[in-house]
Amino acid sequence: MVNMMSDTVTKPSAAMLEAMMAAEVGDDVLGTDPTVISLEQRVAQMFAKEAAVFCPSGTMTNQIAIKCHTEALDEMICDIDSHVYRYETAGFAYNSGISVALIHGKYGKITAQQIEAKIQADQDWLPHSSLVVLENTCNKGGGGYYTISDIEPIKKLCQAQDLALHLDGARLFNALEETKETTQDIGPLFDSISICMSKGLGAPVGSLLLGTHKFIKKARRFRKVLGGGMRQAGYLAAACHYALDHNIQRLSVDHQRAKMMAEALAKLSFINSINPVYTNIIIFHLNKDITASRFIDVLKEKGILASPFGPHAVRFVTHLDITEEQFNHVLKVLNGSFPF
Ligand SMILES: *Cc1c(COP(=O)(O)O)cnc(C)c1O
Repeated sequence: MVNMMSDTVTKPSAAMLEAMMAAEVGDDVLGTDPTVISLEQRVAQMFAKEAAVFCPSGTMTNQIAIKCHTEALDEMICDIDSHVYRYETAGFAYNSGISVALIHGKYGKITAQQIEAKIQADQDWLPHSSLVVLENTCNKGGGGYYTISDIEPIKKLCQAQDLALHLDGARLFNALEETKETTQDIGPLFDSISICMSKGLGAPVGSLLLGTHKFIKKARRFRKVLGGGMRQAGYLAAACHYALDHNIQRLSVDHQRAKMMAEALAKLSFINSINPVYTNIIIFHLNKDITASRFIDVLKEKGILASPFGPHAVRFVTHLDITEEQFNHVLKVLNGSFPF
């Protein structure tokens, strides 16, 4: 089976497992796990941030960031398709007691003008705008990315209006692969950044939240109360070190393959449209007489797993566990015949 449901389905390679087994570990709740400490320092330095905290998931790093940046009765501003709004169980309301102002962005991307229009006036009866969240790449937007020149006006607005700016960078390395901008360039634009190691980089578990020393000190308390304090977490951190050493440069392969799959899909008569393919995500829309689940069933019979992304929409995600042979199989299937 070629599993293109998500880039989270990857399993640690033999070499990654070896690196995990060789890890030197301690007790990270007590702050004595050397591999976690070195990972946190490495990623913070990479993005020119003061500090980092290692967490079990990107949902947790985002939720902690929202909690640290806001107070109850505040409001965060984000795109309507963003992960923090759609896919974190409304945790912004549950954990932080805040409201949300939603923007209809373009493939998940929002602008300074759109954000400015959502800033609430200072009135007793209105929530207080205190946080902007950007997502890069935009998952539900189909893997589109922001360039630094897209972000700079947003950063300026946030500074002028005293809004915190958080980046959900679950797939930030995919974005940087395309823009050719550096971690040092993008890091300083945000007050906090969440990065996932378990997406395109192929680690089994792990996300990092980056920010100032003061912010991360507060974040550690929220990690603990959310149940995210882990003990011999160095085994997981070792997988993340391995992922950073070996799996960043190869992201371009995933992007190239996604573009080639989209070209093959474009030739199929029953496909109505394909969102622009920017990185490793392909979202496409079938003609109204074919449901996503029917198409997915047919693909499954041909050895390909994909995710429904709406009644007539399907998502493919490319990743490091798709072999050359599997990739060729997908192209062969897409260039073959379908019963529609
Ligand atoms: C995957 C993802 C997350 C975090 O997901 P977890 O499964 O909790 O690690 C956050 N934001 C985006 C955009 C994602 O794609």
